[in-house]
Amino acid sequence: MMKKIKGIGISSGIAIGKAFVLEFPSLQETEYTIDKPAIEKEIERFNDAINMTESQIEELQQTFEKEVGPKYADIFSFHLAILKDKWFKNEVERIIREERINSESAVKKVIHHIGKIFKKEEKDFFQDRRRDIIDVIERIIHNLSGYSYTGMKLFSDEIIVTRDLSPSQTVSIDKNYIRGFVTAIGSETSHAAIIAKALEIPAVVAGEKVITEIKTGDTVIIDGQEGEVIIKPSEKIITEYKKKQEQLSIRKKQLLFLKDKPCETIDGRRIYLHANIELPEEVETARKYGADGIGLYRTEYLYLNRKDIPTEDEHFLAYKKVAEKMGSEKPVIIRTIDIGGDKFVSALSVRKELNPFLGWRGIRFSLERKDIFETQLRAILRAAIYGNLKVMFPMVSTMEEVKMSHRILQKVKDDLKKEKKKFREDIEVGIMVETPSAALITDKLAEESDFFSIGSNDLIQYTLAVDRSNEKISHLYQPCHPAVIKLIRHTIENGKKRGIWTGLCGEMASIPEIACLLVGMGIDELSMAPSAIPAVKEKIRSIKYSNMEKISQEVLLFETHEKVYKYLADRINGG
Ligand code: PEP
Ligand code: MG
Repeated sequence: MMKKIKGIGISSGIAIGKAFVLEFPSLQETEYTIDKPAIEKEIERFNDAINMTESQIEELQQTFEKEVGPKYADIFSFHLAILKDKWFKNEVERIIREERINSESAVKKVIHHIGKIFKKEEKDFFQDRRRDIIDVIERIIHNLSGYSYTGMKLFSDEIIVTRDLSPSQTVSIDKNYIRGFVTAIGSETSHAAIIAKALEIPAVVAGEKVITEIKTGDTVIIDGQEGEVIIKPSEKIITEYKKKQEQLSIRKKQLLFLKDKPCETIDGRRIYLHANIELPEEVETARKYGADGIGLYRTEYLYLNRKDIPTEDEHFLAYKKVAEKMGSEKPVIIRTIDIGGDKFVSALSVRKELNPFLGWRGIRFSLERKDIFETQLRAILRAAIYGNLKVMFPMVSTMEEVKMSHRILQKVKDDLKKEKKKFREDIEVGIMVETPSAALITDKLAEESDFFSIGSNDLIQYTLAVDRSNEKISHLYQPCHPAVIKLIRHTIENGKKRGIWTGLCGEMASIPEIACLLVGMGIDELSMAPSAIPAVKEKIRSIKYSNMEKISQEVLLFETHEKVYKYLADRINGG
């Protein structure tokens, strides 16, 4: 029987396909004893599974190297190292022989043992490695159990249904093989959602029910716009959604005609529409959708899923590539690493924290790990001669942080000068305004900044005290909450008073009506997932700045986010 589950749309678009439930068989159920004569056969079965897992990972690594680049393919080296590890294999074999139990159970025992050792280690490096080990084990168990788990490449035209996506699963998504994904947990601003949007894969978070209600092979429709999952839809519904899908694809093509047109209101106010990127390769998508520049390059992705930390040259080559691809005119804003919070970094030994979003994040980390910060700044300054690069600091909450960052930047410039290295001396330096404290002192911060970029994903969570990645309280996470609107307005006004420009690079910039409200408040730049640019541009080109200025004043009278958004939508779309 057809069933509809309402969730949160985290990446728009419609996908129709067969579900593949990425759930792992319970080891408990598969535990059994082996007769003595069958022991050698059982060891052979284990070795076959290891070999199969190895070739699957190698294949995945090659595909990844070809499509995304060697650096990212490197994440699989650790997986391969585990499989090749003699101790692991010998230990599993020993348990099979001595305890006469099946391979799955022997693997489980060894893993528990490793898990205990890793748990004792406080360092995140070990905790993150645990996750990698679990990834590999899941693959081995699948192969032992006859499940054809070969990583994301297997999911030809399928919709993945899973509780959560691990970092390595998320980055190994190959959009040529996957139509969409449904997860039980997550949110619009989570790691998986940002990648899904970058890859233009429809995705919905819909609670634990998806795991129990959807079975592999079920036909499923996901609507990333509405946040809906339809299980076993009727033929009539499938036809309806296919039509909707077709309309969306026609509209997408139509919107591309706007690619080379400026984002300008009817009465001539020019807004710069920039793209958010996580990997240098995404520049192509940004260009395809007519981005005026890169408004946010989340450079912490250079650190994800690897054993070591990037060298200065790795940073340099990544930034140079983006600068050159965007050309000398188009700005590229490199945000220095924003690790901590929900951002997972394997190679940096960051202790687990009780409240990571309120902890050692962004600029707080960089100011303590000056070695890492300076390496990155050196690379940015050197790459800046190849294009129009700017640098931006994340998670600022005090004036001292900005001043200290400037002092370190100056020191790095002095070092480069001494070393006679070429670099750009007059690089523009901005800050992200994403904490209420920063927003409230923007009059002062503007004296030390060339521009502001409002990080609304974080500004909303910190202002409203709502964890941005917790789907349970997502109804409270509201960009149109009057408190958020007031802080944004305050920031833009302070920027203007000091003669600096203000942009916004959180997810709310990609909602066309909200983008118009921001225009009315005087925003200069909006940065978003590349595919969101055309629809935002279309809407902004249809409004008058003078009208939006008035509307942005009027919404200040409302006390709830519903009233703000409704008024906005009625005034903009209602004519
Ligand atoms: C933000 O907080 O709005 C932002 C753009 O940064 P991130 O999503 O990477 O925290
Ligand atoms: Mg942020």
